[in-house]
Amino acid sequence: MRNRIIFFSGGKASFAAADWVKKNHPDDNIVLYFTDTLWENPDLYRFNDEASDKLQLPLLVHSSGLNPMQLMFEKKLVFNSMIGDCSKILKMKVSKDFLKKGIKPAAESWRNQEYLRDEDFTTDAVLYFGIGFDEMHREGAIRKNWQPFQVEMPLIDHNIWKDEVLKEYDIKQPVLYDYGFSHNNCNGRCVKAGQGHYKLLKTQMPDVFQQIMEQEHHLKICVSAYRYIMDDKVPEDERIPDDVREQMLQELDDAYRDYFYDRAKRPKTYIHPAGSAVQKYMQIKQYAFMKRDSKPLPIRDLRDEVDNDGQIDLFDIGGCGCFVDAM
Ligand code: SF4
Repeated sequence: MRNRIIFFSGGKASFAAADWVKKNHPDDNIVLYFTDTLWENPDLYRFNDEASDKLQLPLLVHSSGLNPMQLMFEKKLVFNSMIGDCSKILKMKVSKDFLKKGIKPAAESWRNQEYLRDEDFTTDAVLYFGIGFDEMHREGAIRKNWQPFQVEMPLIDHNIWKDEVLKEYDIKQPVLYDYGFSHNNCNGRCVKAGQGHYKLLKTQMPDVFQQIMEQEHHLKICVSAYRYIMDDKVPEDERIPDDVREQMLQELDDAYRDYFYDRAKRPKTYIHPAGSAVQKYMQIKQYAFMKRDSKPLPIRDLRDEVDNDGQIDLFDIGGCGCFVDAM
């Protein structure tokens, strides 16, 4: 009996891959494996649960305990398409630590664990990814990342129609596809996404758009203040003394921690330390998820462009590189 692990993302492609594995290796020890960013659309969890129930396969869920926004707050970084580790830390690292070193993350849960045929489901496992022809460019990086595991991509190697497989099981596709998103990731608010993607988010999920716009704004102020407090390029005689610096960092944390960890909370009143600085250092740096012409494009500016029929690049979709980035 061979161990087979399907990287289950909550997308249609990974479901189709799981169905192929189940049909072709019915007697093996198969596990659906989902690494949760804790930032997903509620319908993704419905889809995953239904998939596990109808395929009659155990679903293992792992999570680091942080969502991408909390990770950015902890690292004092605003991720974007060029920098950022959310997929690496929340997905790649969690799964690699577990599969290669046996290290379990902060949170683990099972659904339908009774379908597990052997407790040791990782030894010499074959790993399956729901990568299709449209994502073939990801194939090489995924294979390299997961050496020495055997990696298979049934959608590339076999002619599988995702929608037909869903119909066969009478499972409704995740709602993000109904809205026109190409992936069911992070509730449509991927920090590596582009202008066209965020315009779609504004149209389809205005509440989510409004929230991520506000969060980006507060994160920008928080990260900018952190950089200012820690800035060692300031001449020594104008630099913040160490004891004051510690106190400022604590105040910064106090102002924003509850906000980034509890949706119901607002940030506390916070005065950016640059406000009392000499003129030449008195600037709040601009950080944003999106870029335009290599410059930050805050979501708020995109909103204004969209509302005023300004020009945005609808073909700039961008998005998640989860499981491609090297560790
Ligand atoms: S979908 Fe985007 S925001 Fe979510 S983990 Fe992947 S890269 Fe990060």
